Amino acid sequence: MDIPPMENFFGLSGRLAEIFPSFEYRKQQADLAEEARRTLLGGPGEILAAEAPPGVGKTFALLIPAMTEAAATGKKILFLTAGIPLQEQLIRKDLPALNRVLGLSLPFGLLKGKGNYACLVRAAEASESGRGGFLSFGDGGAASMLIAQWLETTETGDLSELRLPPDSPAVAGVAASSRACLGFRCPFKDRCFSRKALREAQDWSVVVANYHLFFSYLLGAGKPFPVPCDILICDEAHRIPEAARSSMAMSVSADDFARLLRHRAVSEGASLLEHGSSAGRIAALSGEIRQETARFFDLLEVKVPAKKVSFTGPCEELRYQQAVVSEKVLELLRLFAPLVDEQDEPDPGQSAAAVWAEELRRVRYALQWCTEVKNYPSWAYWKEGRSLASAPAAPFAELADSFLSGAPDSIFFMSATLTAGGKWDYWMRETKIEPTRFFIAGSPFDLPAQMEILVVDTGMDVMNPAYDDTVCSVIEKLVESNGGSTLVLLSSLRLLGKAARALRRKERHYTVLVQGELPRSELLRLFREDRTSVLIGSASFREGVDIPGDGLTQVIIDRIPFPHPGDPLVQARNALEGRAAFSRTILPEAKMLLKQAAGRLIRSREDRGRVAIIDGRVLQRRDWNIPAALPQVKYRRLVVSSNLAAKSVAPAGPV
Ligand code: SF4
Repeated sequence: MDIPPMENFFGLSGRLAEIFPSFEYRKQQADLAEEARRTLLGGPGEILAAEAPPGVGKTFALLIPAMTEAAATGKKILFLTAGIPLQEQLIRKDLPALNRVLGLSLPFGLLKGKGNYACLVRAAEASESGRGGFLSFGDGGAASMLIAQWLETTETGDLSELRLPPDSPAVAGVAASSRACLGFRCPFKDRCFSRKALREAQDWSVVVANYHLFFSYLLGAGKPFPVPCDILICDEAHRIPEAARSSMAMSVSADDFARLLRHRAVSEGASLLEHGSSAGRIAALSGEIRQETARFFDLLEVKVPAKKVSFTGPCEELRYQQAVVSEKVLELLRLFAPLVDEQDEPDPGQSAAAVWAEELRRVRYALQWCTEVKNYPSWAYWKEGRSLASAPAAPFAELADSFLSGAPDSIFFMSATLTAGGKWDYWMRETKIEPTRFFIAGSPFDLPAQMEILVVDTGMDVMNPAYDDTVCSVIEKLVESNGGSTLVLLSSLRLLGKAARALRRKERHYTVLVQGELPRSELLRLFREDRTSVLIGSASFREGVDIPGDGLTQVIIDRIPFPHPGDPLVQARNALEGRAAFSRTILPEAKMLLKQAAGRLIRSREDRGRVAIIDGRVLQRRDWNIPAALPQVKYRRLVVSSNLAAKSVAPAGPV
């Protein structure tokens, strides 16, 4: 199949210019689209890794050739993203517009994880009298009534239709859950909303989903993704290692056991068993397991009192206690065997018992895994509160295999930040993905004319007692000198609180918005609408903040975003790689995070502003070569002391 040259679409008098009066020709976009076309024409096995900074228009650049190919050949596209905002933009805006540009009507849709749909079993249970019906969810009844009425009419069962907060107890009470789903044993399986969504997705030409859902099948459950595809597009590909790691992660807590032992399968299972002696033993065993797990986690608390800390392995007492719990859980599971063995027509009680037993088996396994620290050196282990957790600390081959598992013809990985200083090594090492083609687009903006980078050198280490106050003073002066319109990105919640107090301690002519005080989407809406406001956030605000124009003319970053040295994942990585961990992992990752943060500033040709980094090492540590990872623009350096009161932050001369 031949795909027309991309000039036909992206050229000065191409299809996009014809349809959109505001279309601006961008060579970087046309080149990326052409590279995507060549990848598709290259045949099966082609893998393109593409980095394109903000403003290139990479979604259109990849989807126009891919959708053209899909329309001509019947191929299916799976488009993976990390976050909800991009998914919503694709479904509401980009895909309808692309169909119009291409003169097509390719069906598309958003496939969500099970937890986004109502579960008919849970709904039926909740509405039964005496089982905590809808009016007893603790919400005063309004939300519960709304859900009951909605369930009568909804076609999709998608909980977002309710427009209730996702953490509403009423919504949580009716949401489906992979771990509690009865699957093929479910009496409602033919009407199940999440199953229906999966059936419908088989007919879509473009399926949009997120990495969490993708990896929950491929890595979490070891199953293929339920919608096969021929063209796989992975946007926000810098988030892949983190998403894969969280799908592989395991955790176990005292609450997990307590919840399972409270489950109705325990009481109902006992009454369903024919032998009275087994029923009695179930009740006794569940009590013993409750006690022994409480003893395990109490002992853990005594031996490892820190709130969150790397777990280096169980002592003899903990190991013994884990074995006791493990043995008793096995005994309980054996008693349930007659109820949970697969039966042709299981009744609802048997189905629930089977799912419960599976979950208990998983929790027992997680406890075993999380205490076998010495056997898996490439995993990080940590204790957090009354729980143990574990996640892969080093890259693992299964990640790359996930993308190849359905044998798609062409795979695309793209992001604004995949390289560190133009080098792909870090991302390739972390994902073990081996692209066949690489493409790096330059910025479509005149960055040297539009922005500068100000490096503020306080000469202080983060451990210095005066560090926080000095950084807050610098932030205050920078924000004042800019008249607001600033995004402040901080590396700790402690500093975030102090900076908020510093900016609010006197009346300002701009509003100060602070992470945690309102939902993120609401904060971003206010920040976008109030052009002089200041938004203070931590790591999560390095991405997804897109404010073109004069509402954002300054980004302040408190320091090079190295991870906390006490982070169990960092400690495990250090133990594995020794001194090389810094140059192989920690430094490249920090550069990519810094690039992401700086990328918030210039979002259109009209934008102007400065990025201020309060960390003198950006320029001092020439061996780290940090400026190579940032936009190639004018740098200024400002040296300040802790006695900032009399000083201005007017930048000194160019470096
Ligand atoms: S199949 Fe699973 S999610 Fe669907 S209604 Fe049944 S239990 Fe709920």
